[in-house]
Amino acid sequence: MSSQRNSRYDVLFDPVRIGPLTAPNRFYQVPHCTGMGYNYPRMIAAMRGMKAEGGWGVVCTEYCSIHPTSDESPHQSTSLWDDDDIKNMALMTDAVHEHNALAGVELWYGGSGSPNLLSRMPGLDIRSLPSLSDPVQSRAMDKSDIRNLRDWHGQAAKRAVQAGFDIIYVYGCHYYLTSHFLSRTNNTRTDEYGGSLENRVRLLRELLEDTREAIGPDKALAIRFSANGLGDEHMNSDEARDAIHMLAELADLWDVTISDYSQEMGSSRFVQEGSLESHVSWVREATAKPVVSVGRFTSPDTMVGQINRGVLDFIGAARPSIADPFLPAKIRDGRIEDIRECIGCNICYAGDSRAVPIRCTQNPTMGEEWRRGWHPENVPDGTNESVLIVGAGPAGLEAAHILGKRGYEVSLADAAKEPGGRVSRESRLPGLAEWARVRDYRLGQIGPMKNVSLYLDSTMTPDDVRSFGADHVIIATGAKWRRDGLGRWHRTPVKDFDHPNVVTPDDIMDGNVPDGFVTVFDDDYYYMSAVIAVKLAEAGCSVTLITTEGRPAVWCDNTDEQSRTHQQLLSLGVRIIGYHTVDAFDGSHVKASCVFSAELKNIESSWLVTVTSRDPQDALYQALNKQREALVEAGLKTLNRIGDCEAPGLIAGAVYSGHKIAREIGQGESVQKRDRVVGN
Ligand code: ADP
Ligand code: SF4
Repeated sequence: MSSQRNSRYDVLFDPVRIGPLTAPNRFYQVPHCTGMGYNYPRMIAAMRGMKAEGGWGVVCTEYCSIHPTSDESPHQSTSLWDDDDIKNMALMTDAVHEHNALAGVELWYGGSGSPNLLSRMPGLDIRSLPSLSDPVQSRAMDKSDIRNLRDWHGQAAKRAVQAGFDIIYVYGCHYYLTSHFLSRTNNTRTDEYGGSLENRVRLLRELLEDTREAIGPDKALAIRFSANGLGDEHMNSDEARDAIHMLAELADLWDVTISDYSQEMGSSRFVQEGSLESHVSWVREATAKPVVSVGRFTSPDTMVGQINRGVLDFIGAARPSIADPFLPAKIRDGRIEDIRECIGCNICYAGDSRAVPIRCTQNPTMGEEWRRGWHPENVPDGTNESVLIVGAGPAGLEAAHILGKRGYEVSLADAAKEPGGRVSRESRLPGLAEWARVRDYRLGQIGPMKNVSLYLDSTMTPDDVRSFGADHVIIATGAKWRRDGLGRWHRTPVKDFDHPNVVTPDDIMDGNVPDGFVTVFDDDYYYMSAVIAVKLAEAGCSVTLITTEGRPAVWCDNTDEQSRTHQQLLSLGVRIIGYHTVDAFDGSHVKASCVFSAELKNIESSWLVTVTSRDPQDALYQALNKQREALVEAGLKTLNRIGDCEAPGLIAGAVYSGHKIAREIGQGESVQKRDRVVGN
């Protein structure tokens, strides 16, 4: 297979030494959260093992707590608190080793960054600092605390070796304990751990030395560190440079990040592929050790560029490995067109934010490798029975893709002139262009399939479906934004919203763009209200965004996009009014009331955009369901509805439901096993 590969990608498959070990190639899955942690060891093991199977040469855990005083619950970390953890962690290393990859573990101590809600122990930090999330503070560390911390770290490193890890990390960034020691502002110690940079780096140096001793000569030591500092008040980029020079040869590998997490983890709305390069490229000159960093890399040409220009030794990835665990194998085998490219939506990160197992918009099997036994590339063979799918949005496209792969005769019909449903429409809104990859990947897959036919401009009625006579019918007709204001706040339609100047995001996507003074009413909390406000502001409207929450698009906290969204709205001059609801509209003003006091505001506005909730477009399904018995008598085997027409939600949810039904046809409903901590 490798003969088909373009030789310019060969460099990505060079083995690379990491201290005493050799990674089989340059594909390095850096530590990333999964919302699973120590609670779901078998799910993690199967998911990480899948990355190794897909060709990632190094596969790391999410952050791994070394002690109960470092507990970020409800966010899920893995743990090596005691010997009982070893068995759970070994599940993951075994799964990774089965495919000849190296397994890495990122030992973590949160300091004031972990509120310890589960363990109820005070966290230790350089001084008593407040947690960012909870009304608790850390305890200032004295010398004996530092000794204990070093001891815990060493013990955890030894357990990591017992669990089978090959690469053991010392964690030096992301605003956890060691960052506070490094910080000029937070570190006010007057002993050998405070003051000069050398003193502020001391703890990291000691942890590196301790860990080296604990893991012995056969394992590799890695450090994760911010190449451009921690923000000027804490450690500016010059100091970061000096610190890296001081520690340059102590670890076997440098995993470099940057200070701004919203760039490092930047969504495609705000940050492009490979955006860390200018901040991290110098590190390779500063050390003889290999360097890895990330950049939402999905293009093999970008990857090769980074290697050939001497920016990195390893192509680090979290999201690209989530969206496509088989990305390295596809490059290796010359199947570039099969890469399922990450769209940069950060829904995967929302799993960690909401403390539930990870989901991915592009990869519906993510997190279901053990629970449902789903493989991202392999699906069970089906039959050549016929399937009619109505609706070629993300749900219908994914169902067609998987059923086509299984061998069914698939007809996919859509009323629109273009496929993609909401993804095509939304990808034309500001910042959402990459979301079209959800459509394009699936079109690319079904294009060569002779057993899948796509019919556009084909509105299907119940009669059309009946006369089509397919063995299986799947309705994926989506949802539309409601005009009437019904949502979280208004539980019944608002009478006044029945006005010609009330429009929805669907109207705007259809080209009916308001002008002049416009109010956008955000009772939805995800991206749509903000993206619409940006579109209108850029079109010259004077925009007011009113939300029943405190901040616009507040759910975007979970995708690490809210603050950039907020900044973007402010920079475009959008007036933001929080904690208000829109109660009435007369074509010249909206009446908004405070959600706490009911005090009224009268806001000049000739248009109102309601972003409140969506209405499932399930009429076709309901009509067919009414005739189910007659249809079955005429030969219909199954009738299902999927995606937004069943229950409006995330694009990830629509893709997932399309994938699920496509696996279940002819197989019966798939069982979701329940993971829990394995008894020791
Ligand atoms: P989902 O997110 O669930 O995939 P979308 O709203 O993205 O849903 O897509 C639904 C698609 O269904 C749209 O492209 C729409 O044109 C199509 N559709 C809706 N009703 C019909 C119908 N009666 N016949 C054919 N296509 C339809
Ligand atoms: Fe990429 Fe979105 Fe999947 Fe995360 S959820 S890996 S950002 S496509």
